[in-house]
Amino acid sequence: MGYSGLSIIKDGVFGGKGRKPLWRDPAPKSRYDAIIIGGGGHGLATAYYLAREHGLTNIAVLEKGHIGSGNIGRNTTIVRANYFLPGNQEFYSHSLKLWEGMSQALNYNVMLSQRGVISLFHSDGQRDAFVRRGNAMINHGDDAILLDREGVRAHLPYLDFDTARFPIYGGLYHPRGGTARHDAVAWGYARAADQRGVDLIQNCEVTGIDIENGAVTGVQTTRGAIKARKVAIVTAGRSGQVAALAGMRLPVESHVLQAFVTEGLKPVIDHVVSFGMGHFYISQSDKGGLVFGGDLDFYASYAARGNLPMAEHVMEAAMTLMPMIGKARVLRSWGGIMDMTPDGSAIIDTTPTQGLFVDCGWCYGGFKAVPASGFALAHLMATGQPHATAAKFRLDRFRTGVGLMDEEGTGAQHNLH
Ligand SMILES: Cc1cc2nc3c(=O)[nH]c(=O)nc-3n(C[C@H](O)[C@H](O)[C@H](O)COP(=O)(O)OP(=O)(O)OC[C@H]3O[C@@H](n4cnc5c(N)ncnc54)[C@H](O)[C@@H]3O)c2cc1C
Repeated sequence: MGYSGLSIIKDGVFGGKGRKPLWRDPAPKSRYDAIIIGGGGHGLATAYYLAREHGLTNIAVLEKGHIGSGNIGRNTTIVRANYFLPGNQEFYSHSLKLWEGMSQALNYNVMLSQRGVISLFHSDGQRDAFVRRGNAMINHGDDAILLDREGVRAHLPYLDFDTARFPIYGGLYHPRGGTARHDAVAWGYARAADQRGVDLIQNCEVTGIDIENGAVTGVQTTRGAIKARKVAIVTAGRSGQVAALAGMRLPVESHVLQAFVTEGLKPVIDHVVSFGMGHFYISQSDKGGLVFGGDLDFYASYAARGNLPMAEHVMEAAMTLMPMIGKARVLRSWGGIMDMTPDGSAIIDTTPTQGLFVDCGWCYGGFKAVPASGFALAHLMATGQPHATAAKFRLDRFRTGVGLMDEEGTGAQHNLH
């Protein structure tokens, strides 16, 4: 089914009668050319680009729950290309361009809202760091505007500018950054991949990875064995566990990240704002809820739910930055499992097992990476060569120490910052 202005009018007149499910519900075949483990944003995008860019359609995406039940449906939807270091920079720059054409490419409205991301700074040293970052972004063809204190006030008059501990000095404004509707991204990719012949198999957990003579031959699942010469592990917070099925120990640690949403309010925050002195960021959803989050839990866990000390920590930061938020009532909070790498950057690579690929380590920033990650992993699986925009996301940088991308300057224990 295609979407058009006419189809919306028809739906309005006939109450949506005749609408079909967005994708098929096929039984797994006994063999595919390629299997993607994980029906999150990255897995679905990979399947879509394998079909669209490389003409590979005998593919299955195996998802243990339902499409959209993982982090793709749990994140705070921020999209941006404000990275500083080569390696990340070209990748996220490519990703933002794919975001900008996504609704048209998928014929599905992902509600990309380029409302601008403003990252605040609170000291001279931090200003210097943001100036460097902004210059790096501009040199790379992305957009960045340095705002002084009054410039920030013009955009965000509701902030507390004179808090004694963290006075606001200014901000780095990235106008093309913003938000998108996360569920729509999963549904849009799923629908478009299905239309190209990809089998999306839900409620199908991978429980084993078959390897013969150093090469992958297929997977064991709760719905039977499936053969394939190419298998990609794209399971976000569960990457470490799934890789262990192939005898691999990935350099990732899983932690919970929480998010919060308030009751619906009239429009009040029309950008994405991030606090420079505490881990806190906020935007307002199209439904009116203030959506915000902060630090990840400081201990490793596979529990997809949060805890009260972190809730307190995040809200404390929120109150410091914008005391008005104290009037809003929090409606819901939830957690998702993050796969944190030691340098905070991702991995898209082959593995020592022939035909086995891994796409993981997205930490708390993998939503914005969805299109470029799918694009790059599809390229790697189809051609055997890393895509130019993801050439530095190598697995062995953690073994050799060469090529680490310590984007946030938090050292070798990113998960502890
Ligand atoms: C609270 C929160 C806020 C965030 N905010 C942002 C943000 O604002 N911006 C941003 O860029 N990023 C953000 N992120 C990060 C982003 O959501 C993730 O990095 C990204 O979604 C991970 O990739 P994914 O979509 O493929 O993961 P997922 O949707 O988790 O997909 C992985 C899938 O693998 C499946 N799976 C696992 N094991 C198996 C198995 N054995 N067999 C079959 N299937 C399996 C899971 O069920 C899951 O559906 C946030 C994350 C959280 C939790």
